[in-house]
Amino acid sequence: MTKITILAGGVGGARFTRGLLAHLRTADPSASVTVVANTGDDLWLAGLRVCPDLDSIMYTLGGANDDERGWGRKGESERVSAELTAYGVGWPWFTLGDLDLGTHIARSAWLREGLPLSEATARLSARWNLGVTLLPATDDEVETIVTVAADGEEASVAEDMHFEEWWVRLHASRPALAFTQRNVATSRPAPGVLEAIADADVVMLAPSNPVVSIGTVLGIPGIADAVRSTPAPVVGVSPIIGGGVVRGMADACLSAIGVETSALAVAEHYGSRRDGGLIDAWLVDEVDADAVAVLEAGGIRSIARPLWFNSVEETGAIAAAALALADVRHSGG
Ligand code: GDP
Ligand code: CA
Repeated sequence: MTKITILAGGVGGARFTRGLLAHLRTADPSASVTVVANTGDDLWLAGLRVCPDLDSIMYTLGGANDDERGWGRKGESERVSAELTAYGVGWPWFTLGDLDLGTHIARSAWLREGLPLSEATARLSARWNLGVTLLPATDDEVETIVTVAADGEEASVAEDMHFEEWWVRLHASRPALAFTQRNVATSRPAPGVLEAIADADVVMLAPSNPVVSIGTVLGIPGIADAVRSTPAPVVGVSPIIGGGVVRGMADACLSAIGVETSALAVAEHYGSRRDGGLIDAWLVDEVDADAVAVLEAGGIRSIARPLWFNSVEETGAIAAAALALADVRHSGG
């Protein structure tokens, strides 16, 4: 049985995993997939624990995602959010749909009973038949805080805010100076995370935001070391195509940590495992074919092929190419 472990953010991670599962259904039906999801975007809002990336993965794999909008539940309404706004509770610009609120209420109820997030996630996932084991990177509340530059107008000095406020309210319009993981030093990986990395046949870095999705997962003490030391090959798929971010605003995050928005620079940021880094192999889009020779010279196996998630089938072919580059021979069936 092939064991695959994916480190993932929300939408990019969810779409990649959905494609991988489509590929495995015929190529290796007995393969088991574990997704370790970013929890840095999580927050308490209106008394509820909201976990955007876990839920994007759950809804997408569960077939309940609003694919047109990209996130949240399909067939969603927002009556409860309108009530909350009338009371001045929560963030009016961070709309929680009614169906989505059901998820947050259930999760918060379990957390208040004292269950860890990983257990609450397992209970939520049980309903959806995900086809993967979905694990939060950590059970601890480690939220991403952005130090945002002064804008010279309302904000005359730099200020700290929750990642979601910078991302959703400000659309990353004010430059980020730094990202901090609040309470990270004392946090621990959720149960099963280190084992899933150490015991895998292949570890995959989804084409998720390298800073605030994958970077946050890797920031939980022990996870990066587990990736460095796993006997499994580690393969990543570039979230950057032709110097652009495909969807979203990942460039605003990369520039804050001094990494160029390119497929090559992100791979070099992760680094070759040969030299103490995190990856053995890296897929780039065909428009970034020039990076392949540079990466190979630097100890990272690489191929160039289309990396656009135009359909589940095409995404499945990308995942298959990643497995092949990692030299994973399907043992299942
Ligand atoms: P978020 O947590 O919802 O922001 O999602 P992730 O961090 O998992 O993924 C966001 C990233 O996915 C974006 O920054 C894009 O670079 C990447 N992405 C989105 N669509 C595609 C696609 O079609 N192909 C590739 N290669 N990357 C994509
Ligand atoms: Ca996210």
